Amino acid sequence: MAGREVLERSVAAFVAHPQVRQVVVALPAELAAAPPHYLESGVKPIVVVAGGARRQDSVANAFAAVDPAAEVVLVHDAARPFVTPAIIDRTIEAARDAGAALAAVRARDTVKQANAQGDVDRTIARESIYLAQTPQGFRRAVLEEALAIAARDSVEATDEAALVERAGHAVRLVAGEASNMKITTPEDLAIAETIALRSANASAERRGSAKASAERAGTGYDLHRLVAGRRLVLGGISIPSDRGALGHSDADVVCHAITDALLGAVSLGDIGRHFPDSDRRWKGASSLDLLARAAAIVAEHGFEAANIDVTVVLEAPKIRDYVDAMRAAVANAVGITADLVSIKGKTNEGVDAIGRGEAIAAHAVALLRRK
Ligand code: MG
Repeated sequence: MAGREVLERSVAAFVAHPQVRQVVVALPAELAAAPPHYLESGVKPIVVVAGGARRQDSVANAFAAVDPAAEVVLVHDAARPFVTPAIIDRTIEAARDAGAALAAVRARDTVKQANAQGDVDRTIARESIYLAQTPQGFRRAVLEEALAIAARDSVEATDEAALVERAGHAVRLVAGEASNMKITTPEDLAIAETIALRSANASAERRGSAKASAERAGTGYDLHRLVAGRRLVLGGISIPSDRGALGHSDADVVCHAITDALLGAVSLGDIGRHFPDSDRRWKGASSLDLLARAAAIVAEHGFEAANIDVTVVLEAPKIRDYVDAMRAAVANAVGITADLVSIKGKTNEGVDAIGRGEAIAAHAVALLRRK
């Protein structure tokens, strides 16, 4: 059924539910001896037991394997693969509150009671008729008592709620759903295929729209030579230093790396493509200004920065005292708050040109999200 077995879907619905701690599956003995791979315990324990001759025997065998610490026990037909998290929620809550609960749907067709000849004996008021589904939920002690009484008195029932009713407990109805159908006939299976396909399409669509609105990450890297007689500008802040970065404009490696990260996240090339050295417009422009323009370009494409993280690699001077001013300047240029901008300094331990103080580099990562 849309590539997944009915039982697999039913088990997955419970394994995925945040309030479910353990799943016990009763299977025909020969299947229980060699259960399918999807019944191996994963994120939650799955216990496989052999079922019995009657439904209630299977439930009793499964109940014996339930964690003694369980507060509420749900019983579900494996043949209802379309149970939703909301139905499970409602059943757990009502069972916890009332002791016993079951998912049910109101009868939509008019209900007739027939006599022995097969003629209508009477019409039953539809408003009071509910069709029982599963899950059915019980406080542990309530189900234990009902199963014990059923075993003692040799009572048979088509659902556990009937045993609980017989034991004198109230059973609360919670809203089921028409799609929470039980697959018992080939006709049911055909309807189920349609539901499975529809839900597969819906989740593919959700994935598609998630893709369209997804966050995007970009990285940037920049390196400039360090020479005497130049200012050292990092993140738009002038830092006292005996050398500065060589290059056009202010050669601010922090702003250049972040600019590339922003543009890269939306696959728009790099700083050189948008602000070429050869273009007079950018002659003398501050790198902080170019960064603000890059943020504006990204915004035109529907994105804003979620956070930015930068590592500056240089041997000297220490940038620690200037980091907060740099973060504030960058945040202001990008249009976010300073807590979303991280800037860290690192030396190269004397290794290579950066380690010898001949160059400075910066690495940046930016996460963008759709506005
Ligand atoms: Mg550069």
